[in-house]
Amino acid sequence: MRNLVLLFACLLAALPGTSGEIRWEPYQDLAVQQLQRYLQINTTNPPGSELLAARFFQEWFAAEGIPAEIFEFAPGRANLVARLRGDGSRRPLILLSHMDVVSSDPGRWRVHPFSGALVAGDIYGRGALDTKGLGLLQAMTFVMLKREGVPLRRDVIFVATADEEVHVRGADWLAENQRALLAEAEYVLNEGGDNLLEDGTINFFGIDTAEKAPFWLRVRARGRPGHGSRPLRDSAPHRLARALARVVDWETPIKVLPGVEKFFHDLAPQEPPERGEKFRHIREAVHDPEFLATLTRDEAYNYLLRNTVSLTVLQGSQQTNVIPGEAVAHLDVRLLPREDPQEFLQQLRVVLADDTLEVGPVQDTFRVANSSGTDTELFRTIQAVLGEHFPRGLVTTRMLSGWTECQIFRQLGCTCYGFSPFLVTREEIAGVHGDNERVSVENVRRGLRVYFEVVERMVR
Ligand SMILES: [Zn+2]
Repeated sequence: MRNLVLLFACLLAALPGTSGEIRWEPYQDLAVQQLQRYLQINTTNPPGSELLAARFFQEWFAAEGIPAEIFEFAPGRANLVARLRGDGSRRPLILLSHMDVVSSDPGRWRVHPFSGALVAGDIYGRGALDTKGLGLLQAMTFVMLKREGVPLRRDVIFVATADEEVHVRGADWLAENQRALLAEAEYVLNEGGDNLLEDGTINFFGIDTAEKAPFWLRVRARGRPGHGSRPLRDSAPHRLARALARVVDWETPIKVLPGVEKFFHDLAPQEPPERGEKFRHIREAVHDPEFLATLTRDEAYNYLLRNTVSLTVLQGSQQTNVIPGEAVAHLDVRLLPREDPQEFLQQLRVVLADDTLEVGPVQDTFRVANSSGTDTELFRTIQAVLGEHFPRGLVTTRMLSGWTECQIFRQLGCTCYGFSPFLVTREEIAGVHGDNERVSVENVRRGLRVYFEVVERMVR
């Protein structure tokens, strides 16, 4: 009987056109090598220089017989788009990543941030997790679909953007100048969704289906300047400090969105029984002040339930003995999907309780936060593939506290998810925008299989 099962399994694996016959080893080796090369390209933004990375992809794809177009929208700043044609029976799938990375301080790193060095099983480099590691797996998946001759029922479009980390000019340019191409797509797979590994086990895979909207504000107080030795009760810094004290203690209203409700519900079985019950009925549970206080104290849960305010910038005098005529603070406000920024501003003014303060946005444009539903073929496919590779890993939705280019693609009508095939520890996550950013070779090798299988099932 056992032999029969084995024989059957072998026969299945040998069927033409299933991923069972793929020889993974050479592809996995290539993925590691190419990631090292990609990480060696310095795309620190500013200035970005993403054209260099775009050429890296263009040359690689050309060698594989895949044409790719570079759009240089400003000197040295470029997006790249490449497409594998399908039979058109389904709308396209976009594989999206950004090529720019944030700055790094080489003095604080174990190896140089642009070395792509392989040390003790880890590949080091700025962008290894955010988000060159993902971009490379997408490119590798793309190349594999071509080499393996996978018949495609939908186009697969590889999109690598510039300037995501600063002004998002790359994706904005595409949305404006290649709108038809992007809007044609049914699905977009993008960065996001980190999967936390604790004590060697995975608690859950979070697929980002929603994110919050930055609404950065500047609060300015003006007053009479003077000598620090003679305090002025209503000086600019004093008035600002009083108002800010009210804001930092402000507990904004609780709002349980459907995706967040599902997240808590999914997590319930992993909690102790009593807390699990609360998680299962989060909408009612937030009315329990004690329970709500525990959520509010937990930075991983608090932001899911409300608009948030972080006091980040404080500016006053340059000298200790000088009372300045002006004092300024910046508030990093993050709004839940579909919130009205003007309404929030009104609430904030009430809390500041000082009509003499000037309050206004730091940025010119506000991008309304949005979300994608989970009742889709792509969500079910990711769930199925993860279930096969990690039978005990829970797959759930997560709302990102930050912002990604998904917001732009959702506005064009695509279903967009943040999905990462990497399992990462807290220490590895700290490398994102921090020091010693790295991804393990094991993650790259296993991640390629997971990612390819998701994409292949969506397009075959
Ligand atoms: Zn990123």
